[in-house]
Amino acid sequence: MADSDSYYSADDVAAVAEMLKQQSLAYDQLFENLAKQMYVELQRSDSEGVGLSQCYQLAEQALSDFQQHFPSSGTLACHKGCAHCCHLRVETPPQVVADIAAYIQSRFSPEELDQLRQRLAQYPQHPELAFEKPPCPLLDQNQQCSIYPRRPPSCRAFTSPDVELCIRSVKQGSQVPQQPITVRVYQALTNALMAVAQQQGAAQQITVQQAALVPALRAALGVEA
Ligand code: SF4
Repeated sequence: MADSDSYYSADDVAAVAEMLKQQSLAYDQLFENLAKQMYVELQRSDSEGVGLSQCYQLAEQALSDFQQHFPSSGTLACHKGCAHCCHLRVETPPQVVADIAAYIQSRFSPEELDQLRQRLAQYPQHPELAFEKPPCPLLDQNQQCSIYPRRPPSCRAFTSPDVELCIRSVKQGSQVPQQPITVRVYQALTNALMAVAQQQGAAQQITVQQAALVPALRAALGVEA
């Protein structure tokens, strides 16, 4: 307290504001350091796939660390077999598309590959104009992601407190509130991937941006729309 006969003090307000500001900066720095660590892992690895695997592990470890020390209130509605969010647009750094294409080519049977190529070819050119957003072509008949271990960072980041919000989002385009820590962990990964991709692009005088998953995967697998 500022003096003995006063409980309230403007100086206390300023001091606490400064303390919270410093804490907020320190909190932001945790995610910046995570992105830097991921960037180093990506640069250090001999292959993009290995570097990406290490970053996915790092992201999961970071999520576990944050959840231990910053427990969030509320439960998630997300569970296996629920795939409403797989109707939403997915954007991804280029390395992730290459990694998914390599996974598909090494793991899918000829029949699975043929079915996927058909789904990719049939996916609308302008899904945003469809009455109801179409499902991601990577969803299988059981409503499960067929490339789950290699799914993009934005798919990993998506969480929902209520399935009804997801249904409304697909039908009406409304927002689903996200878990901030999960979003920031996978944003760190996206930032690291894009920093590496843009650095490589600059060396070849190419501008690199995130791409919509379906058209990029079509191109990677040589599928005509
Ligand atoms: S890549 Fe997998 S998780 Fe992401 S939208 Fe497609 S099916 Fe869903």
